[in-house]
Amino acid sequence: MSYIHPFAEARKLIAGIDTKISLPNGKYTTVINFDNAATTPPFLPVLEEIMNFSPWYASVHRGTGYKSQVSSNFYENARSTIADFVGADLKHDTIIFLKNTTEAINKLSNRLLDTYKDGVILSTFMEHHSNDLPWRNKYTVDYIDIDQEGKLSLGDLESKLLYYKGKVKLVAVTGASNVTGYINPIDQIAELAHRYGAKILIDGAQLVPHASINMKSPDNSQHIDFLVFSGHKMYAPFGTGVLIGPKKFFEKGAPDYSGGGTVEIVTHDTIKWNDPPLKEEAGTPNVMGVLAIVTAIKTLKKLGMEDIEIYERKLMEYALSRLKDIDDLIFYGDAFNSKDRVSIIPFNIHNMSHSMVATILAQEGAIAVRNGCFCAQPYIQRLLNISAEEIKNRIEDPSLPHPGVVRISFGLYNSFDEIDQLIKLLSKISKNKK
Ligand code: PLP
Repeated sequence: MSYIHPFAEARKLIAGIDTKISLPNGKYTTVINFDNAATTPPFLPVLEEIMNFSPWYASVHRGTGYKSQVSSNFYENARSTIADFVGADLKHDTIIFLKNTTEAINKLSNRLLDTYKDGVILSTFMEHHSNDLPWRNKYTVDYIDIDQEGKLSLGDLESKLLYYKGKVKLVAVTGASNVTGYINPIDQIAELAHRYGAKILIDGAQLVPHASINMKSPDNSQHIDFLVFSGHKMYAPFGTGVLIGPKKFFEKGAPDYSGGGTVEIVTHDTIKWNDPPLKEEAGTPNVMGVLAIVTAIKTLKKLGMEDIEIYERKLMEYALSRLKDIDDLIFYGDAFNSKDRVSIIPFNIHNMSHSMVATILAQEGAIAVRNGCFCAQPYIQRLLNISAEEIKNRIEDPSLPHPGVVRISFGLYNSFDEIDQLIKLLSKISKNKK
């Protein structure tokens, strides 16, 4: 069956889309990338824009030359493009450019100490380690439970908010899981957290590139308090992340990194910090990285976030409808429900290691997937129904089967034909193992 690719034009926007390699069996074939949750390939317009900007390549903020002024204007205006994309309010919020989501959450965990030192932070069982570890050893941290299907338990969120009697200061939760693709109910989480006096942080690494998001609720009140995401998961190259949150939290205290750019006045006995965001962006910033993320956002907007979401869901639904006919596949959670989910599918093949499956897909089909625990060991532990002790033993002892799953994750440029190739090879793998 042949399918129309509604994003046929978008496919042409992807750098390296036609990369061909020789497989160990001698076949010369085009690479298929189903590992978009790890990183997406850059858009060509992003790379072109970087080249086009070369005449204006200059350090920002501190130069009086014409190039520096152009570069500085661009850099500062970029914050409005970001704000517009996610519904941030620049009167109230600050937009800080960093390296990636991980750095953004680390910064937030450091900077909230001035306000929330004795507070409780609620993370969840389904977080990427980047939205778990930075909170530990600084605050009292507890984890919102998940249900049988691996979905966040709103009941447990409310119980914990009640249990800690107003001491929960922040609910730090992923917008979409990098393991199951589940999209968390942000409206309900925000409503509950705010009712009990807590703020919310949405880790947008997997959500922002695949669905529209709005930091404001329909009545225009603040809804998501803090938002973080990475450019390299939304068709910009590596190296740029964004942290958005109310200015007032960053006005207090000293920044976690200090140095050039962070200060207005320095004598040997006085420091007057700059206002955020500059206070939080120590040293020379990554101007080309910001250009890249802004151009990626403009390109995504041109394609239309809603159309992207619809198309990627179709890819997932088609893949699920074909995967379920393959013998011996093991699925996790609410596997065949594509509602409230970005297009990520975790699975295993019975009696076969996830690394073996991923290796054969790469070597026989040039199909890139990801396998393992995806920096979410507590979540994988729960999905696989194994104890914390067992996951620890199985990771430490190479003679035991390594815990984990195979993950396919789609991007807006993937095609139904590519899924057919995956299905063909997976069927063969499943048959041949017997
Ligand atoms: N949060 C989630 C949900 C992720 O999927 C990832 C990366 O896979 C991260 C955070 C960390 O992103 P980065 O490596 O860009 O810091």
